[in-house]
Amino acid sequence: MEDPFDSERASLPRNMIENSMFEEEPDVVDLAKDSTAFPGFPALDPDEVVYEPRSSRLLVRGLGENELDEEEEDYESSARLLGMGFMNRSSARSPSSSPYTRQPSPRSCSCPSARVLVLGVFVLVLLSSLAMVLYFVPGCTFTKDGCPKANSSTPIEPVYPNSSTGEPFPWNEPWLPASVQPVTYDLFLTPNLTSMTFTGRTIISMKINHDTKRIVLHSSDLTITNAAFQVGKDKHDKVKVLEYKPWQQIALSFQEDLKAGQLCVLTLDYKANLSNTYEGFYNSSYNDMTGAKRILAATQFEPQAARKAFPCFDEPAFKATFLIRITREPEYISLSNMPKVKTTTLPSGLVEDEFKKTSVNMSTYLVAFIVANFTSVNTNISNTSVSVYSVPEKREHTHYALETACKLLQFYNKVFDVDYPLEKLDLVAIPDFLAGAMENWGLITFRETSLLVGNQSSPLDKQLIANVVAHELAHQWFGNLVTMRWWNDLWLNEGFATYWQYWSLMTEFPQLDAGDDFLEARFMAMAKDSLNSTHPVSVSPQLTSSEAVSEMFDSITYEKGAALLLMLNSTLPEGQFRKGLIKYLNNYRGCNTVTDDLWNSLTQVQVVSQQDSVSDMMRTWTLEKGFPLVTVNCTGGQVTLKQEPFLLTSDNITDTSRLWHIPVTYVNDSCSYEPSCRQMFVMRNKTATLKVSDSVKWLKLNYMNTGFYIVHYGDEGWNQLRDALMANITVLTPHDRAALIHNIFALSRLGRVSFRQVLNLLKYIAKETETAPLKEALSQLSYIYNLLDKRPGLQLVSRMKTYIFNHFGTVMDSQHWEEEDSVSKQELRSSLLQVACNLGRTNCIDGANALYDEWTTSNHTRLIPGDLQRVVFSVAAQTESGWHTLLEAYSRTTYDSEKRKILQALASTQDARRIAWILSAGLEGGIIQTQELPLVISTVSNGFAGHLFSWNFVKENWDRIIEKFPVGSYSIQSIIKSTTSQFSTQTHLDEVQGFFSSLKQRGAQMRSVQEALETIKLNQHWMDRNLPEIRQWL
Ligand SMILES: [Zn+2]
Repeated sequence: MEDPFDSERASLPRNMIENSMFEEEPDVVDLAKDSTAFPGFPALDPDEVVYEPRSSRLLVRGLGENELDEEEEDYESSARLLGMGFMNRSSARSPSSSPYTRQPSPRSCSCPSARVLVLGVFVLVLLSSLAMVLYFVPGCTFTKDGCPKANSSTPIEPVYPNSSTGEPFPWNEPWLPASVQPVTYDLFLTPNLTSMTFTGRTIISMKINHDTKRIVLHSSDLTITNAAFQVGKDKHDKVKVLEYKPWQQIALSFQEDLKAGQLCVLTLDYKANLSNTYEGFYNSSYNDMTGAKRILAATQFEPQAARKAFPCFDEPAFKATFLIRITREPEYISLSNMPKVKTTTLPSGLVEDEFKKTSVNMSTYLVAFIVANFTSVNTNISNTSVSVYSVPEKREHTHYALETACKLLQFYNKVFDVDYPLEKLDLVAIPDFLAGAMENWGLITFRETSLLVGNQSSPLDKQLIANVVAHELAHQWFGNLVTMRWWNDLWLNEGFATYWQYWSLMTEFPQLDAGDDFLEARFMAMAKDSLNSTHPVSVSPQLTSSEAVSEMFDSITYEKGAALLLMLNSTLPEGQFRKGLIKYLNNYRGCNTVTDDLWNSLTQVQVVSQQDSVSDMMRTWTLEKGFPLVTVNCTGGQVTLKQEPFLLTSDNITDTSRLWHIPVTYVNDSCSYEPSCRQMFVMRNKTATLKVSDSVKWLKLNYMNTGFYIVHYGDEGWNQLRDALMANITVLTPHDRAALIHNIFALSRLGRVSFRQVLNLLKYIAKETETAPLKEALSQLSYIYNLLDKRPGLQLVSRMKTYIFNHFGTVMDSQHWEEEDSVSKQELRSSLLQVACNLGRTNCIDGANALYDEWTTSNHTRLIPGDLQRVVFSVAAQTESGWHTLLEAYSRTTYDSEKRKILQALASTQDARRIAWILSAGLEGGIIQTQELPLVISTVSNGFAGHLFSWNFVKENWDRIIEKFPVGSYSIQSIIKSTTSQFSTQTHLDEVQGFFSSLKQRGAQMRSVQEALETIKLNQHWMDRNLPEIRQWL
């Protein structure tokens, strides 16, 4: 999924690392758990066994790297062991193998290879021998009571909750039991776009993995009207379905055991309303060219909303095939993951479309269907039919997306060495859509602003489309073909999609300058990751609440995940990273994975001479939260390095327990610009020393900022770097210069350097011409400006403004207002002018007004360059007539990127009445779509007039807001962050704390709330510490 609020993602807390993960324990087979593998012994329902961790277990040794992994053994029969799914077993102990965590669902995939078969036979022999030995083991080993154990505790009798009818519900965990595995779903859906309801029939064929008396699956907001169940020839037309709403589960209970290996079929008829939110099977509408209202229905299931459209085993590891039929009115079309094979007109006059059965097993969250009146453009590329769908009036805006998708599809086919597995790939622009886009297999859905762009649009507008398309296409492999086993490892989907998004653009579309964006994204992730409320990239699998799952979609999962992959790629010898990934994709295609599966695949292709294994190094990065600060001290030729966690805190907590294996790279004054200058070593301990030539004047660490750490050079080191840049700016690459600026501001926030030292480094900026360093400096200064701006009475805002103009005025005034081809120059120009006009710089205001006048007098035929639209409209929106003209243009324009910029301009008004109007219009929907509310709120919050307004608005309308945007979702993360991140006083801290703690079940527990509180405290702390100095130095 792509987050539409890129720059506003919030981060999370909780350190859920378990030290046990690092223990080197032998892999074990738990026979008590896997009684079905040994027929002839009393079988327990494995879901009911209360496990005694790591005791009374039998070791299966002698399998080398393919030793059995206990958790897999738990859920797979010995038959499946043979030749199927065996490659999974090469995985080392994974975080989820802790007995204290949720049980993973079964992996139901076949990944055979010759080696696997040989090993499989070996295992068969071994298991048969074991079975014989076990025949003579006391029977108590396999009973519920078990044998007496040292430190054993009495098994706890499960307590079952009551279902909605008052009868006991036969399951008491938030996740599903592993005893039943869905194989195929037949879905029949009949949406009615007039009554906004739908009916459905879901036929699930499933296999019993372990003897059990229950079948438990998910269902939410569905009214089940009939249930039939068949096992073998035994058929029951009406069976009772129990429901436990808090966990969105339904269940069937049986008197007799369903036996392992049996196949059975559950048929459920149900009805429901099309949702009014943005998840499940939801309705959406837009006004066509004639102003008539058009209705459509679409789906958004990730992470846990497939259960709102059809009853299902709604966990990513329950992969199955799907055959989908949709009944619709003749004037619409319907789309789903697979191509349509048949259309039948029914006696009622309605039409039934049947889609081909999915050719691959897939997770429920990737299922999708749409009923709408869309039109498309299409082309064939590498045996795949690629189409872009939109509402009819926007068809001409689809060509760029089609061209980009085709190019990227070929790129990924080649680079992953695995072809896109489906026959077709549709990209669909949905008028009402909350995420940026969603990677449903074969049917990717987008916001209109993330997919549609006119041919004459600016390269910057196209860059956005290319980014989102590249991200979603990468998911077709990373996420869809190979899927994380549970949401705790979401980064395996999103970190990869984000990494490939930038990497594919840097390779295939170099003119789009994606490298600068990637750098910015990494800085953004560091900002979140330096708070105590952050979380490891790969968290404990205990995470089960829907809130916690939603909150995984944040910049740690996306951007930090991508940054770690970049760091790894730039550490390994050329080509090795790709080789390892091809291995990973081939090992696990069609399967589910945990983070260690990735590291193991990469370790397998490693050359022996490398000292640190990929696993050893990367586990220190994915299982730990935060990142390190490396302090360098250089005396003579002797360099000492020290690592410690970079933790921003206002309460003097020092944490010395965490250690990373840091791939430290460095360049020095004799060779510092070209990649060949880079030297590297892996720092595994708290300190390290290295020897350099006595003649070395300075060192710059973290070449090109590919490592995820911050460097402190000490007073003298910073001065030397500043002097070197003053003498010749090109001694360092633009990304290295941007990183120095980023690092010194971060160190100032940490309290390690004074604000004077920050300004000292920035003296070089007058010579700077490159986008990345200039944008970084400007955004850091704007952050401080915004803090000062929101603390009236300090009299420092105007001095800060003078400082910014003194340092950036020349480069601001030198920007031109004509069309500009270079994306990098567009990016620089738009951010410079945005700040200049915002601070009221006359040249900027005049330039903007002149363009706006031309635009209005030409009746919008004289186009404003895309990168300048936002600044031009924002200046215009400050006058009464300008605001009304823009509001009118907003309702009329079909041009999505322009529309969004007009909306941002409208929301930038400093007029209190208009601010109040636009906030409530965003919440109401209608003129302004509700999906844009987070954008409206963040824009309003930025302005002086709006920031208190928007906070009050959020407090007053909280319940209505969370009706539209689920608690924990990135929309809510964005709303909390944008309304609170500029507060820096105790009064505001108390108020924000008071409000969120009053929410209880309605959001009080969110990680973004903790982040907000931490941020306010840090702002307060920074101000207290630096105000005297700012007064003195500005
Ligand atoms: Zn994604």
